[in-house]
Amino acid sequence: MSTTQVSTERLEAITSSILQPTAANGVQGRTAPFEEVIGGLTALITSHRAPGTEVLRFPPVMSRALLEKSGYLKSFPHLLGCVSSLTGTEASIRALVEGRAAGQDWVDGLAATDLVLTPAACYQVYPIIAARGDVPRSGVLVDVESYCFRREASSELGRMQAFRMREYVCIGAPDTALAFRENWKARAEELATQLGVPFTLVPASDPFFGRAGKLMAVNQVEQALKFELLIPVNSEEAPTACMSFNYHQDHFGNTWGLRTDDGAVAHTACAAFGLDRLTIALFATHGLDVDAWPPSVREALCI
Ligand code: AMP
Ligand code: ZN
Repeated sequence: MSTTQVSTERLEAITSSILQPTAANGVQGRTAPFEEVIGGLTALITSHRAPGTEVLRFPPVMSRALLEKSGYLKSFPHLLGCVSSLTGTEASIRALVEGRAAGQDWVDGLAATDLVLTPAACYQVYPIIAARGDVPRSGVLVDVESYCFRREASSELGRMQAFRMREYVCIGAPDTALAFRENWKARAEELATQLGVPFTLVPASDPFFGRAGKLMAVNQVEQALKFELLIPVNSEEAPTACMSFNYHQDHFGNTWGLRTDDGAVAHTACAAFGLDRLTIALFATHGLDVDAWPPSVREALCI
């Protein structure tokens, strides 16, 4: 696979058989083989969990106020999905949904609620840890997973609107957070080798909004704040980001008043695994029949 493109037939089979397309772009049903691989990846990632790591699992929605405070709106307003619901009297709601409100579609009656769709798993973690008080300089570790939503413009294979993100998060002294991130970069290369997928690990940037966002992205690369592990899926030229390794410096520490026990602002870092993308990359690399995958890969995934 490392020198040849993934065949079009294989990509089409992943798109329409291993995954089940729906009427909404980038929203798919997951089949049993797909879920079996997700389960294997989940267990493999868990086997790398450091002792003392706290486990948190979240539903796919979170507090809108919390997300606003985290700064997401400034950086990625174009990707955010907000939960809205119908408000009003019983009569006005009934008229809207039954199409009897003159000149009004039912969606005209929607109003934003206090919820948004979670765009990244780790956003939920920082305020929870901050509410407990200072963290040790040696760091607090959290294992978090959430279904995430992003209003993606394209729907190429692997660019989903709803997908599962697993993350390890570190909150501690600057050198602790950075060492955690560097350690995970090295481990991720081992993981990808174990999974038998061709990969590159490269400096990366987030898709910040607008013209000012371009500058932020350049800055992010210059400061080596984000790295991605890329695996070819749709093409060799534009491989797909399947894992990310982020050093946020003091961004979340300042936002949430996170401090280490010496009174300094805590720094944070995270290692994020796109479970659906990794699964797609495995099917793209090894084929549609899981039973025919290399024994070493099946062993790593316990499938
Ligand atoms: P990010 O916060 O953008 O670094 O995302 C963390 C991880 O989530 C990435 O490394 C991807 O594996 C995965 N991911 C991000 N966006 C999507 C998407 N639109 N569809 C599927 N997986 C995604
Ligand atoms: Zn994160």
